[in-house]
Amino acid sequence: MRPGPGPTGELNTPMMEQYRRLKAACPGCLLFFRLGDFYELFFDDAIVGARELELTLTSRPTGAGQRVPMCGVPFHAAEAYLSRLVEKGYKVAVCDQVEDPRTAKGLVRREIVRVVTPGTVLDPGTLPAKANNYIASIVADPANGALGLAYLDYSTGEFRAAEYHGAVGKARLMDELICLEPAEIIFAPAVERDPELMGLLARLGRAKPTGFREEAWRPATAARVLAEHFGTVSLEAFGCADRPSAAAAAGGLLAYLKETLVGSLDHVRTLRTVDSGRGMTLDPATRRNLELIEPLHPGGASGLAAADGGTQGTDRFERGRRGSLLGVLDHTVTAAGGRLLRSWVLHPLTDGEAIRSRQAAVAELAGRQAVRGELRRILARIHDLERLLARAATGTGGARDLWALAESLAVVPALRAALEETRVPVLRGLRENLDPVEDVVDLVKRALADDPPATLKEGGLIRSGYSAEVDSLREIASGGKAWVARLQAEERRRTGIKSLKVGYNQVFGYYIEVTRPNLALVPPEYERRQSLANAERFVTAALKEREASILGAEERLRVLEYNLFLEVRDRVTSRAERIQSTAKAVAELDALSSLAEAAARYGYVVPEIADEPGLVIKDGRHPVVERLEAAGRFVANDCVLGGSAPPFALVTGPNMAGKSTYCRQVALIVLMAQMGSLVPAASARIGLVDRIFTRIGSSDDLPGGRSTFLVEMSETANILNHATRRSLIILDEIGRGTSTYDGLSLAWAVAEYITTCIGALTLFATHYHELTELEGLLPGIVNYSISVKEVGRDIVFLRKVVRGAADRSYGIQVARLAGLPAAVIERAAEILQDLEGSAGTVARREASAASGRRRSPPRPGDTALRAGRAAAAVGPTGPQGQLTLFEAADCSAAPRREQPGEMGGLVRGPHHRPR
Ligand code: ADP
Repeated sequence: MRPGPGPTGELNTPMMEQYRRLKAACPGCLLFFRLGDFYELFFDDAIVGARELELTLTSRPTGAGQRVPMCGVPFHAAEAYLSRLVEKGYKVAVCDQVEDPRTAKGLVRREIVRVVTPGTVLDPGTLPAKANNYIASIVADPANGALGLAYLDYSTGEFRAAEYHGAVGKARLMDELICLEPAEIIFAPAVERDPELMGLLARLGRAKPTGFREEAWRPATAARVLAEHFGTVSLEAFGCADRPSAAAAAGGLLAYLKETLVGSLDHVRTLRTVDSGRGMTLDPATRRNLELIEPLHPGGASGLAAADGGTQGTDRFERGRRGSLLGVLDHTVTAAGGRLLRSWVLHPLTDGEAIRSRQAAVAELAGRQAVRGELRRILARIHDLERLLARAATGTGGARDLWALAESLAVVPALRAALEETRVPVLRGLRENLDPVEDVVDLVKRALADDPPATLKEGGLIRSGYSAEVDSLREIASGGKAWVARLQAEERRRTGIKSLKVGYNQVFGYYIEVTRPNLALVPPEYERRQSLANAERFVTAALKEREASILGAEERLRVLEYNLFLEVRDRVTSRAERIQSTAKAVAELDALSSLAEAAARYGYVVPEIADEPGLVIKDGRHPVVERLEAAGRFVANDCVLGGSAPPFALVTGPNMAGKSTYCRQVALIVLMAQMGSLVPAASARIGLVDRIFTRIGSSDDLPGGRSTFLVEMSETANILNHATRRSLIILDEIGRGTSTYDGLSLAWAVAEYITTCIGALTLFATHYHELTELEGLLPGIVNYSISVKEVGRDIVFLRKVVRGAADRSYGIQVARLAGLPAAVIERAAEILQDLEGSAGTVARREASAASGRRRSPPRPGDTALRAGRAAAAVGPTGPQGQLTLFEAADCSAAPRREQPGEMGGLVRGPHHRPR
């Protein structure tokens, strides 16, 4: 049902006309329409509101017999309801009465006073403290295939843009977008022609993605909007002068916000264009597999918070982080520091210099416990400056917000003093950027009352002594009240009515109340005003006169205090840039101290960052698993990969031996090193990697309609298509989701392809023992295994990574550990013995039954045949049964190779039979 006249026009009452006009002014929003003490929703909005907020759906008569659906919330409780709707992804426009209903002639004027959307909320209760809340925009330039992305955190003022080109660029943009977790997305019409992008947008964001009119995204229009907003003549300063798509995305986003948002964008003071080719983009699978922000199985790591002593936040982001890398590293004491650290974890650096300088700061703070302790104590007193400023600048901030801002700035000199002795350039630079903005602190302290009320229009905001006018009005107002008290005493004496009371109410103003039994004593000059059940209320000429002066003073005082407050707030906001500089420095200092704190608590070391490829890690540990293990139980392991050592390590060992943990720990150590953190190892030398790819475990993507195996293959395809010689690849159990021989063939082919065509550093964990033969067949592959000890019929996991292949899978022993019934275990052992006697028969039967293929399956030792099968199995559309080996020429199929690694076809060599 649309708001509009009914078939006979009865809905055209003046108020419904007004409603319709306001509703049309905020397309896509639910309208909270102020009616007396309620915000009402009408028509379809009422149906949605009643469902989502569990309100009673009623109806309101509008003219001859027509009723429209309606539900409402009391105005004083509106914030909570608004938050709930925004959490659920709705956009809500709030329309208020903008004139006093008592004095309004005819229909009260109403206006939309604010629009609250998931991407633009400022309510601290709705926003996650330690995560950003972005509204993102996307443009596509059909002429050259470029894509532009801009994203703005309205709650902090952070505003960035980037431009992407080609298929690789598009993949990066999509990864980045997933990583940003935008709350809201808007897009240019041209994006609609890309079903893949639109599919992604539909899955992201809490609010439905919104298109916005074409012309706003034209580079020239967008450039003008940006220049006007920032008061600059060109886009040079923002780094997007030569990136029209980035500028278009940013300008379009600003235009959209200016048009739809009834709030200021004054706190958005600068735009930064980020280089889409620099830094490390982590694809969503890697982010998930490495458990960077949240664990794969959140329930499974509940012990971490206690073990870790980390932040005990309560918002949903906080709760989800335990058992993740961020959960271990985050010892930040400010919300902004938490947000920054999160983005460091998600965006490791690839530039050696940048890494080394951040690392130097962490190392210095890690080594100087006293300085670090002092810094963290001071930082803990700093509130969320970015968001407080945003609230002030957008007109939502109250006196308490300004106090919090001033109190935070007031500790900046102490912070600067604590940094006095630090040596490294990054810390010196931060010290310089910490502007105490004394004039703001001074102004707030002079102007605002201690402990001011939350409301702005009820007075009580301004400190005595700040304004002579406020002081004198207060004098009258409070003097008046004293006069009322005196009058009460005097009248009691004069009339002899002991219970006589002088009171006040909103409708009748000041009155004298006399109970019924005393009415005979009321003097003649008392004028009757109101009758109650047990009493009568009167006024006198003197009371009326006095009342006018008191009320006038109180009213004038309220208005004056409000206006003075607005002045103070404006003056604070006029220092936005300086406050933002301090806020940024505080966040960075907190994030650096947090990494230093983790390093000191958990015994991390400074890794050497090398420009040439290769990893040498001595006694490395998994940062998260080691925290979950009892102290000292975690077994450290080395890793030497690339450089003068082979770049490809095949890791075998029984289930539960620790293969995944080992592979992930190497990836995490590299990632930590490249985010500037110290690392859990005895020593480490990390040759910079351009990306980290992972394919781990099995997960269905049922909402996306993909089976486990298809997910596995898509992730593998992504890796093979994008990895370079400088990448680190972690593959854990490739080919599990299909039959043994299919899986083995795929795993084999993937391993060959990586070593011969890509040359990336790779850790490949597998239980396919046949793959260990690759070590003798291809240069650059080395076998490792995780040792176990047999004790009788059981095995003990030693967790130590050793050179060479594992001899057996020990599946039956692991099954016994898991508690399978003894009968099953014994029977399995018998079958295994049989099978080992006639190796390959089951697999052969399985293979031919599964696909009725003509080819005979490879046998252990039948390497050439197996390799050929692997090559044929790489692409499902590839020629069936074509037994080619990888040769150098095959590598041309590998897209985006920087420097092909060691090539040369598969070597036929002596077979290394598994031991
Ligand atoms: P796999 O991948 O071989 O099946 P996992 O890596 O999943 O084995 O490890 C299984 C469990 O063993 C982990 O959950 C962890 O508790 C423990 N573990 C793994 N590596 C170590 C280690 N180096 N030291 C101590 N415990 C470990």
